[in-house]
Amino acid sequence: MRNFFVDTSKCRMPAPDPFTPDVLMIYRGVPYEQCESGKDLIKVNFKDGIYSLHMSEANLTCCYKQILRSGVGANADMEYKLLPCSNFHQDFDVPRHVDAIITECRRLSDKKLLQQDAFSFVQPAKHADNLTAMNDSSSSESTKRRPSVLLWGIDSLSRMNFQRTMPLMFKYLKEENWFELQGYNKMADNTFPNLMALLTGLNSSGSISACQPMNVGGLDACPMLWKDYKNKGYITAYGEDWSKYSTFDYMFKGFKDPPTDYYARPLILAVEKELKKRYDMALPYCVGRRHFAEYIYDFALQFTEFYKNQSTFGMFWTNTFSHNNFALPSSMDAKIIEYMRSLQGSGAFEESIILFFSDHGMRFGKLRGLESGFLEERMPIMYIWLPHWLRQKYPEFVHNLQLNRNRLTSPYDIYATLKHILELETPLAVLPRPEGCPNCHSLFYELDESRDCSDAGIDEHWCTCVDFENVPKTDSKAKLIAQQLVEATNNYLAAKKLIGICHIQRLSNIESVQKKILTNSRQSNSYLVRYETEPAKALFEATVQWYDISQNITISVPSISRMTSYNEHSMCINDKVAKKFCICANQGS
Ligand SMILES: [Zn+2]
Repeated sequence: MRNFFVDTSKCRMPAPDPFTPDVLMIYRGVPYEQCESGKDLIKVNFKDGIYSLHMSEANLTCCYKQILRSGVGANADMEYKLLPCSNFHQDFDVPRHVDAIITECRRLSDKKLLQQDAFSFVQPAKHADNLTAMNDSSSSESTKRRPSVLLWGIDSLSRMNFQRTMPLMFKYLKEENWFELQGYNKMADNTFPNLMALLTGLNSSGSISACQPMNVGGLDACPMLWKDYKNKGYITAYGEDWSKYSTFDYMFKGFKDPPTDYYARPLILAVEKELKKRYDMALPYCVGRRHFAEYIYDFALQFTEFYKNQSTFGMFWTNTFSHNNFALPSSMDAKIIEYMRSLQGSGAFEESIILFFSDHGMRFGKLRGLESGFLEERMPIMYIWLPHWLRQKYPEFVHNLQLNRNRLTSPYDIYATLKHILELETPLAVLPRPEGCPNCHSLFYELDESRDCSDAGIDEHWCTCVDFENVPKTDSKAKLIAQQLVEATNNYLAAKKLIGICHIQRLSNIESVQKKILTNSRQSNSYLVRYETEPAKALFEATVQWYDISQNITISVPSISRMTSYNEHSMCINDKVAKKFCICANQGS
């Protein structure tokens, strides 16, 4: 008996078992380990809005180096500066202008360096302008209670892998009555388009042309949701770990000015450069005394704690325990529950709408290579928390969210919902619709039962409302399709003048060819093809249309998935999409 996440008239989305034998063969849970042994020599205390530094041993001398954002122009998001280390006394109050530091503690007798550490502080000075905006708006709209919004994102985590690697969190969210979207489907390949759909409502090409991320200042001018929230008097924050590959900086120019009132980037750049690191599958997993993600989570807690009586919008995104090693989220399972409990303790659950979510599943590696890999890649987690007062005030929203749990949904719906939160009293007909998906709307209203992927703004290649029928690999059609795919890829590289820099590829193996069967057994001319090319044994997966009469395919090359990691093969070029297809000629083969 098969299970389905969605079983509606135009979408049957399979719900694979996360614990099939083929997955259990390759999955081993990873325990949480202390990054550095020994106790913390410095503890941060927070009282009456003031942070202080407590030394936990006598016979120490400690100092701190303030971290500052220091780059300009194209380097604004890439550089930081450390001020000279200034000594501090026991229970020293951190000055109000200091929002990130690296500390050093030495033995008093011989000045031997014993420990380095790093801390962020959410200080009030950053949003002086917001307070005025808030006071103005509170006088006119004093009766309306505005929920805070907290986005807690983990890169590359599918529903199946979440249940598999984070069973404690999976159980916790269920028991605490979070709303799950079981029909949540990514709308494009990787982080940037999926987060942009959620943060701007724009589609892949729309967000590139509206936001010009390759140009200095481009992303600053981008219509990000946090700007809408700031305009309504919210205090805003954004933090993300892994400096080189973070969403707005990898191959892009980042932000010229801090995009939000509080911005973790200078801290993240500094700790990654200055502190000791331990890597897991090429990712900086431990940085100094903590797991890299914990800097982001501590920052999130500080932010919500400091502003618990004011409306806030914060996005906190982590990559370092989930992006490359699909088993590694297991190491953070219990830890994230601790963070959730701290949030609960600070009262955040009574004031905030919280999204616990991801952008897509594993896009490469062992898990992706399994039969269920197609679904693993396309089904990110999406959980929503609503405060009790909001549930009571808007019971119809609760009802609709429950109904939408098993309907097809996409990041555009989340964008529309986050816009709706800014004006909860506005009826559906008047609410703004995402530009990239005019049929998408707030999830507080019932979604159309007959929705299909194109209604939800999901390109066909990423759509999981499908079933498949195997085509024998020896079928002449199978071979023609695979050959034409490789040819199309070579033509794509040639059109970008990359042949010579990148190898011409040739088909070396057809792994599988499947014909798509649409819901209600409607026939299609779509095929899902997995194939391998030489040199480099690169594995690809593509959705193509096949035309019997002309014996030809149509394919949009950028939509082809690369199922094996391509970073090492494609260092000779910077084009983010072409990197998937380029095997550099000068890097051996
Ligand atoms: Zn991602």
